[in-house]
Amino acid sequence: MTPKEVLDYAKKNNVQIIDVKFTDLFGTWQHFSITPHQLTEETFEEGLGFDGSSIRGFQSINESDMLLVPDPKTAFLDPFTQVPTLSLICNIKDPITGESYAKDPRHIAQKAESYVKKVADISYWGPECEFFVFDDVRYGTGSNFSHYSVDSIEGAWNTGREEDPNLGYKVRHKEGYFPVPPTDTLQDLRSEMVLTMEQIGIRCEVHHHEVATAGQCEIDMRFDTLTKMADNVMKYKYVVKNTAVKYGKTATFMPKPLFQDNGSGMHVHQSLWKAGKNLFYQKGGYGDISEMARHYIGGLIHHAPALLAFIAPTTNSYRRLVPGYEAPINLMYSKRNRSACVRIPMYSKSEKSKRIEFRTPDPSSNPYIVFAALLMAGLDGVERKLEPPAPLDKDLYELTDREKKKIRQMPGSLDQALAALEKDHDFLLKGGVFTKELIETWIHEKTKKEVDAIRLRPHPHEFFLYFDI
Ligand code: GLN
Ligand code: MG
Ligand code: MG
Ligand code: MG
Repeated sequence: MTPKEVLDYAKKNNVQIIDVKFTDLFGTWQHFSITPHQLTEETFEEGLGFDGSSIRGFQSINESDMLLVPDPKTAFLDPFTQVPTLSLICNIKDPITGESYAKDPRHIAQKAESYVKKVADISYWGPECEFFVFDDVRYGTGSNFSHYSVDSIEGAWNTGREEDPNLGYKVRHKEGYFPVPPTDTLQDLRSEMVLTMEQIGIRCEVHHHEVATAGQCEIDMRFDTLTKMADNVMKYKYVVKNTAVKYGKTATFMPKPLFQDNGSGMHVHQSLWKAGKNLFYQKGGYGDISEMARHYIGGLIHHAPALLAFIAPTTNSYRRLVPGYEAPINLMYSKRNRSACVRIPMYSKSEKSKRIEFRTPDPSSNPYIVFAALLMAGLDGVERKLEPPAPLDKDLYELTDREKKKIRQMPGSLDQALAALEKDHDFLLKGGVFTKELIETWIHEKTKKEVDAIRLRPHPHEFFLYFDI
């Protein structure tokens, strides 16, 4: 839509409120609303003022005035408001310099999208976001969360003791993938999420229960271009959370809410295209991938420790990246193998669907920053012809100690990942896609407000281990 078309669309749909949204540095949608007469064609050029100093990691108080510039192509009717509301996703601009804001994640994604032109016309992205749905304690319905407390899972699965009789089609440990209802209690909820996503312009392909004991779901969107797909992930999370709340439940994208069960990942499928040709496809080689795809994988694996600071950006992310739960810990690639960090899906042999799947990211990340950072790492691999380690088609969780020693492992904690980013980030600065200031802010905020916040607090399990010492 053009600005004029957005205004007409708003009128035609009797829109009473315009809601402008932007993504902050750490991946949360923020918003405020204006009346329709405040939205003119000029607004799409001049923007709307907001206080940039109240957003974590953005501006300091003495330079707080910032502008939101709505992108007319993103207009959609909010499916959750009572009052007819038109939503617009925005970019952020500095009113003094008139320039795009260097810490605007959407701007970073757009710059990465331009940078890809060095080798390709276009990049395609297909994230698979997983999430948990729990009963919302605010509604007094009890919580499925409580069934899976630390003790009951340890009791049931480490000692063989049955937790309690399963008279209610309760999903067994790690068997959520994927019995039909009534075991799967979330079928209609996911269907409604999908229909709502489609209604606001997201093409969906599949939905299903995921592996974890209870309440883990996945909805897969059809692939799209970089910024558009990051916009879609934000809309996806909005729909998932609001639909859950509508039904008296809560949804979370926290990577590992349950001890000893699968966590939630955001595997990212990606491919590069030029003149209608898939640059990752080459029939005959390993997994039918091209030399360029191999170097791209080389870049991802080479920079993986630093990338982790963005793609597994919470202290909780590292509770997911442990052996045994289909989450990758080895810096390896392989076809069909879900224990490697890069998998080459082999469902289809066609050029059209050839892509690589990077399995390390999780949905606590900021999708704009994740896609941009992955692209920059992959392109660095292509430019420098980086070679990944030879592919391994074994279950990597079952390797012998000698075999394991040969494989690089990922950093095991957020502070290690942040240290790796501090050492290795030149590949992100190319073409001005990321700035040094952004990386410094990221490391500072993540260290002070998350790593330290967790490190300094006594952990509940420490009471189990040490109280009577
Ligand atoms: N939940 C797993 C992860 O953390 C993935 C499971 C799957 O999609 N096969 O990445
Ligand atoms: Mg999937
Ligand atoms: Mg999955
Ligand atoms: Mg996958």
